[in-house]
Amino acid sequence: MTDQRPENIACRQCHYFMATDHSLGTCHRYPPAFAGEQSPREEHRWRFPLVSGLSWCGEFALRE
Ligand code: SF4
Repeated sequence: MTDQRPENIACRQCHYFMATDHSLGTCHRYPPAFAGEQSPREEHRWRFPLVSGLSWCGEFALRE
């Protein structure tokens, strides 16, 4: 199977990406998702998805 990604598409170039370090970031396309009850603090139980800057999805929107 071949990679169907259009050229130059990556999370790090997406409007919804917020970098957290040189290679990772969070996706803000949708509201935070429930991440479990391990933390006693409510605000830590909801997280934006962590994604690689080199990843991509069908919701990609080029950052202006
Ligand atoms: S390409 Fe998709 S997963 Fe990546 S930041 Fe954009 S919306 Fe999120």
